[in-house]
Amino acid sequence: MEFLKVILRNKRNKIILGLLVVSYSMLLVLPFLQTLRTNPFVMESNLSSLDALRSILLFVLDSILTLTLTVWVFGILGVIFLKRRLTVLKRMLGMSVLFMTLLSTTLIAPIGAQENPERELPLAKKVFIITFDGTRADVFWEHATWIINHKNESTWAYRIVCEYPTVTYPNHESIATGAWPQIHGVEANSQWISTATSLLRKFRQPRMDDIFDIADTYGIMTALFLAPPVLLGIMGNSHTYKKAVSDSNDSMTSAINYIKAHATEIDSKGFLAMIHLVDSDTTGHAFGSNSLQYAAQIKKQADLVGDLYSTIIDLGWENDSIIIVTADHGFYGFKHLNVWPPLVADIPLWMWGKPIRKNFQLGGGRLVDITPTVAFILGIPTPSGSIGVPLLRALDEDFVKSIREDVNLSDLAIEKLSEGLFRTYLDILLWGFIDLSMLWSAFILVYSNLLLIKEVSRKSRELRIRTEKG
Ligand SMILES: [Zn+2]
Repeated sequence: MEFLKVILRNKRNKIILGLLVVSYSMLLVLPFLQTLRTNPFVMESNLSSLDALRSILLFVLDSILTLTLTVWVFGILGVIFLKRRLTVLKRMLGMSVLFMTLLSTTLIAPIGAQENPERELPLAKKVFIITFDGTRADVFWEHATWIINHKNESTWAYRIVCEYPTVTYPNHESIATGAWPQIHGVEANSQWISTATSLLRKFRQPRMDDIFDIADTYGIMTALFLAPPVLLGIMGNSHTYKKAVSDSNDSMTSAINYIKAHATEIDSKGFLAMIHLVDSDTTGHAFGSNSLQYAAQIKKQADLVGDLYSTIIDLGWENDSIIIVTADHGFYGFKHLNVWPPLVADIPLWMWGKPIRKNFQLGGGRLVDITPTVAFILGIPTPSGSIGVPLLRALDEDFVKSIREDVNLSDLAIEKLSEGLFRTYLDILLWGFIDLSMLWSAFILVYSNLLLIKEVSRKSRELRIRTEKG
């Protein structure tokens, strides 16, 4: 209290303190307004925006981390040197310990044990998740001709958002776990492909089960057709069929061949597969996201989705199969790493199948929402640690009622969206608090150093005048 009185005696200090209070209040209030219940389309869109804001806060943290830590060290040394008082050091050390603890909270937050309750009746027995690597929502909706032509058979979203860091491994793991990279732990591409953007982002082994592990415990066949071998290593388990593919064409051809060769077994056990189409990313890095080549590659990959669609119809599986098409991250120019997140976060979503609504647009969504959606469709639990929201409005209400009588889909959708919005708000508070506190503490340290320098020079001038007089 004494301390506060001393500070408030100065007019400039009053202004600084006011700005500090305003900045924290804005963090508390502004995102909260987006968590309120309104119509579900707006709630879906708000959830995407809040998740993108969360990515921005992490991006800011990574960008300021090294600089702020340096300012802390020199700032604290400066204060000690100028004031020669250990109490200041103690206070500053206490503060930095607090920040570091907060930083590590989400990293070490315990993940509960996986529970395996009895399986509910599935809405579809076969689910195919297709990822277009590095594909922007706007380019996709202009050039993915086959998908655009089949929009009226599907539920789609103009944009859903990917997670931070905006690279392949963390986001594929987020698709498979329904958790933010800061929860599942895979925060960079493998150690061999250096993509760590900051001291905090590392490639780690995932700390939780994914939807392929869980599907396996319920006797569902699982398969992964992915380009990076490291991803194959961390996803699924020893029962999962894993194929390292060389390009998009190889990926889809391998998947279709596998389906045809195992059709009887898949038909009786059910199937969950991820098919990774990598060439869109390679083309983006080579020619840029404004190039004709990039657009043409996305069009080609949409045709590959058409091949799978035809295979499903040829096999007579159209009544119990679901195809989900999305991307792992967007693109900006020739890159997608270390880019202001909103420029690379927007990716497309297209969902097709008997239980899926026809010609219906969602207001938004996130990659972490895919796994909860798949779990709901297959009737199995979500991975423990998942924070995603099932995209329930994508499902045909009458169809779901015909299989699970007691489910009120519209009410459940709103309830889940509300939970997801609030969970994301809490995470925004955490990262926003850390960002603001790091910036303000660095500012205050620089400011106190300047004030102390001023005081020291005033005192030495006084001393000089006194000695001259004496
Ligand atoms: Zn890439």
